[in-house]
Amino acid sequence: MTWPPLRAELQGVEPYGAPQLDVPVCLNVNENPYPPSAAVVADIATSVAHAAASLNRYPDREFTDLRSGLAAYLNTSGGPGTDYGITADQVWVANGSNEVMLQLLQAFGGPGRTALSFAPTYSMYPEYARDAMTGWVAGRRYEDFSFDSDHARELLAEHRPSVVLLPSPNNPTGTALPHDVIATVCELVGDTGIVVIDEAYAEFRREGTPSALELLAGNRNLVVTRTMSKAFALAGARLGYLAAAPEICDALRVVRLPYHLSAVTQATASAALRHAPELLGAVAELRAERDRTVAWLRAQGHKVADSDANFCLFGIFADRHAVWQGLLDRGVLIRETGPAGWLRVSIGTAEEMMAFKDALTGTLTAMLTEETP
Ligand SMILES: *Cc1c(COP(=O)(O)O)cnc(C)c1O
Repeated sequence: MTWPPLRAELQGVEPYGAPQLDVPVCLNVNENPYPPSAAVVADIATSVAHAAASLNRYPDREFTDLRSGLAAYLNTSGGPGTDYGITADQVWVANGSNEVMLQLLQAFGGPGRTALSFAPTYSMYPEYARDAMTGWVAGRRYEDFSFDSDHARELLAEHRPSVVLLPSPNNPTGTALPHDVIATVCELVGDTGIVVIDEAYAEFRREGTPSALELLAGNRNLVVTRTMSKAFALAGARLGYLAAAPEICDALRVVRLPYHLSAVTQATASAALRHAPELLGAVAELRAERDRTVAWLRAQGHKVADSDANFCLFGIFADRHAVWQGLLDRGVLIRETGPAGWLRVSIGTAEEMMAFKDALTGTLTAMLTEETP
């Protein structure tokens, strides 16, 4: 017997996490590179100070103001003239969309039930499934990372999952799902499960790529998760949320910890929402920088997955670890993730992307020289 007396499936498991290194250019965890402005910082600080005056009391357990604010934000997020008609009781919030996802598995997964996704997919999903004692099945995607609906149909029939987890845009590939795929999966899953479309990167999607929010009204088993960690430039606040049928939100109240969303978090997020246009102000620039980065990588002869997110997956390298290390030695931290041979780079400022390009060119040149006898 090993000590401490861990659950058998946790023994010897390394905790998840990209290396947090002190490096000049950090392009490894898909953060927004632009910090909040002084005006936003001041409003958040004032709101937190106000909340601090009653920290002797537990916070609003149902985070009522924040839910209304997020519903309003989502309803206008489709652009002028669109309104998804999402109400406050269709919104649920937790400490990062990672916690939202864990709560979904605690409520809708569990022993004897299965969660299912299609690889390459977000590496945290199997960990939530394990933590919620839920079976885990990963199907596959086509080689270009698009969705294989025939394969999905077979796998869904075979495993009857109670939770299907589909990131769109996908991490680590950047691939978004078309509406007909989401509609088909919702139909196949029916009332015996929920279909979670993880839209952590939705704000970065390209012109013409739809949001699954459009399908909410017609599919009661559909859950769309979002986060303030990426486009909203608020990763440090830990704020994730979802939109779904009120019954699904209600069910999550059963598994959440008491008062799980602190008064400080609620105040921070509500203040940030008041400045949504400004916090999201860099999204257009980041999308343009992404498209330039994809084009540059392709011009260098690399394979690059089409991306609707604020990162891109490129390769294919015989020794990706050596490329990753070469970049790190040149002060640029990217992510060694995805299928064998691929690397993922987050989109930073124009200066940071210049540093990335220089470091990649330098690394590959040095590797070639080494190989030549
Ligand atoms: C970054 C990311 C999230 C966001 O996680 P938070 O807990 O909200 O910071 C969720 N899903 C995917 C696929 C991500 O890449």
